[in-house]
Amino acid sequence: MSLSTSTLSALRKQLVAGEITAVDIVDDLASAIAARDSDIGAYLSLDLEGARAAAAGADLSLPLGGLPIALKDNINALGQPCTCGSRFLETGYTAPYDATVTRRLRDAGAVLLGRTNMDEFAMGSATENSALQLTRNPRDRERIAGGSSGGSAAAVAADLAIAALGSDTGGSIRQPASHCGVVGLKPSYGRVSRYGLVAFASSLDQIGPLTKTVEDAALLLQAIAGPDIRDSTCLDVPVPDYSEELGKGVAGMRLGIPKEYFGEGIDPQVRAHVEAAAKRLETAGAELVEISLPHTEHAVATYYIIAPAEASSNLSRFDGIRYGKRAEAPADLLDLYCRSREEGFGPEVKRRIILGTYVLSSGYYDAYYSRAQKVRTLIRKDFETAFGQVDAILTPVAPAPARKLGEFADDPLHEYLSDILTLGANLAGICGISVPCGSVASESGTQLPVGLQILAPHLAEATLLRVAKAAEL
Ligand code: GLN
Repeated sequence: MSLSTSTLSALRKQLVAGEITAVDIVDDLASAIAARDSDIGAYLSLDLEGARAAAAGADLSLPLGGLPIALKDNINALGQPCTCGSRFLETGYTAPYDATVTRRLRDAGAVLLGRTNMDEFAMGSATENSALQLTRNPRDRERIAGGSSGGSAAAVAADLAIAALGSDTGGSIRQPASHCGVVGLKPSYGRVSRYGLVAFASSLDQIGPLTKTVEDAALLLQAIAGPDIRDSTCLDVPVPDYSEELGKGVAGMRLGIPKEYFGEGIDPQVRAHVEAAAKRLETAGAELVEISLPHTEHAVATYYIIAPAEASSNLSRFDGIRYGKRAEAPADLLDLYCRSREEGFGPEVKRRIILGTYVLSSGYYDAYYSRAQKVRTLIRKDFETAFGQVDAILTPVAPAPARKLGEFADDPLHEYLSDILTLGANLAGICGISVPCGSVASESGTQLPVGLQILAPHLAEATLLRVAKAAEL
């Protein structure tokens, strides 16, 4: 078996047994990437030299000793590019420090392989908003990989990475995982440090793993989770031993089926796969309970006020002076700001900045931003009420399988609406995972993966992983 098709946990055993070396894994991935990534477009940059050096010196007794990980290109790693899929940071910016997750990966013995493509500043659901490169779905090259962590999902799905990290503000780990047929976990808000993640919407962003198995997701989450003095929103609470929790099964658990997540607009084949997965969990001993999350229909409007509002503030740092792009020969300071931003940002990022600035402006703040915050509270309460009745919730991740590249290109609203099933978890701060649960045949004969979304209460990643492990095909 080639090493690139393997998993973190299987490779770890082989490494410890001395059957392979960490450099062998890097070499194998390097040849897979050289042979196939020109077709997929998962990576924006590679650090093979650094990876080989780290692999050669890796301490195999550490939890991720010698195991290569790919990083989404919005997570800082000292000395490496961090483009965020944007022209703004394409040149002129090299990370001057490690993000906390990057440092934790290194401390756990991991090898950093390369940096994956993404929607510009993580704004999108298809990776088509990357200003730098197209990423194709490895299961069907004419279709999107999902987004915004599309490069990470595609790399793992195509065996060009063993595992990767992504970020999820409104679904950006779970949705590409669902479209590419891999596992993607969004931790609870505050479980993983955001220090060194280029901020999109600070009250929603979380970093999490994209892997081939639930076991690997547990391994990777273990390495990155836990308190961090550099991020005051990262919670100082104990991190359970996730690998230990995994095998405990779902017998006796109550699993909620929210009726609002199975209604109009959900592809019938997607619904059928998710319902079949729920039935399998019932057979494994769980009780299925119909629940209601009544404010679900307001999630899209709420998110698309709060996220752009926070983005408009976070992205003000890209002024042409401090980071990356700087306009040539500015007439004055204002011209420097305006032209650097005009030339550096793509259309979706500009749309978000304009929307965000509008909803925060005096006169509109109360009507939009402050009302959205109130609805956010109602959405959070929906989940609190639901978790009074059930241990976890089962839903589809995306209303339909991966669409064709270029479809709905001039219809951002269609794209926003497709986020309906993932946004709630971010607005409520709870954890969620996407696990492959089947596939749908396309008209061209390809098999398009479908993900089961499992949602669990704030900080209940152990529950999430238990259900995910039991649901894994
Ligand atoms: N698709 C959503 C958006 O465009 C979520 C993106 C994300 O999670 N980073 O904002």
